[in-house]
Amino acid sequence: MIPFNKPYRSGNELQYIAAAIDNRKLSGDGDYAHKCQDYLQQRYGFQKVLLTTSCTHALEMAAILLNIQHGDEVIVPDFSFVSTANAFALRGATIRLADSSRTNPNVCPESIESLITANTKAIVLVHYAGFACDMDAILQISKLYEIPVIEDAAQAIDGYYKNKPLGSFGDFATFSFHDTKNISCGEGGMLVVNNEKYIKRAEIIREKGTNRAAFFKGEVDKYTWVDIGSSYVLSEINAAFLWAQLENIDVIQTTRKAIWQRYYDALLPLEKAGKIKVANVPEQASNNGHLFYLLCKEEHERDALIQFLRDEGIYAVFHYLSLNKSAYYIQHHGQAHCPNSVRYADTIIRLPLFVELTEEMQDVIINAIFRFYKVEK
Ligand SMILES: *Cc1c(COP(=O)(O)O)cnc(C)c1O
Repeated sequence: MIPFNKPYRSGNELQYIAAAIDNRKLSGDGDYAHKCQDYLQQRYGFQKVLLTTSCTHALEMAAILLNIQHGDEVIVPDFSFVSTANAFALRGATIRLADSSRTNPNVCPESIESLITANTKAIVLVHYAGFACDMDAILQISKLYEIPVIEDAAQAIDGYYKNKPLGSFGDFATFSFHDTKNISCGEGGMLVVNNEKYIKRAEIIREKGTNRAAFFKGEVDKYTWVDIGSSYVLSEINAAFLWAQLENIDVIQTTRKAIWQRYYDALLPLEKAGKIKVANVPEQASNNGHLFYLLCKEEHERDALIQFLRDEGIYAVFHYLSLNKSAYYIQHHGQAHCPNSVRYADTIIRLPLFVELTEEMQDVIINAIFRFYKVEK
């Protein structure tokens, strides 16, 4: 059996968790949390990194920081995970769904622009598969209409757009360290704040609406309830695990990218034979080896390929259902017309990709796909 994912282990995780336990401080913002935050700020030039309990929670923080309220409209990609929309729906926002581009699953800038009204309070984008969105076009729209941008960079760690790290473009960016991502700590995430004016309040919201962070820095002499907020701080146990991963980020990234490239090279002939399309890295974007996908011609063919591979012991999977087709969206928001997103939802298949995937396993997968399409290798 070849699983779809196998979370990476560097081998140092237990040692660091033991050290955290010896330190007698397992709540958040301990030594390992600081190591992680400092490292990520330096490596990517992020203004402020705050580790959070998840990417979903980091998105919720961004929604609170932007004072999103009932009646506000937030533009969200139709082709995304539920959290991208839910974090804003939770604050009462009306979700406006933007379509994917014709040429790749990322959100289409023209579709974003067509949804802007006087009530639009935020533009959220997702760098799908770790591939950058068309940031020049989106930032131009953001500037023209003076609407802040939030990058849902859950999949995009170590991804770049014109050599600038993803997560450094929006007022906020959110990342995930869930088991399914390149770097993980079980459940975890981070909020990146790139606009100085939000940093203090972000610290307050993350600490249950208290000025605890300012208290520990000696800026105030007692800490108290000063704002709304919640409990978004990552535990030191998770941070210790995360540090063991971050220390190995270059090994993880190099390996994942090599696996990605090997799939690409091996499967390109099937595209040339007119059977499928392989993932294409958009112009100006880099590949961070997060996810390798194929596009089948139709939904039933995609489902048949998934079943064929499953029968061979290979776990390949589809991905998002279009948010506009979800029960909650239809009931509460009505309709959205996103034909490109629906096409990606119907035809994408993701192949196993994890550091321990061997070349032998990869060959089994590649050969099976050729057999499904009855093409000689
Ligand atoms: C994984 C993912 C999330 C959710 O991340 P969590 O850390 O599990 O909350 C949100 N958005 C996108 C695009 C994702 O891929």
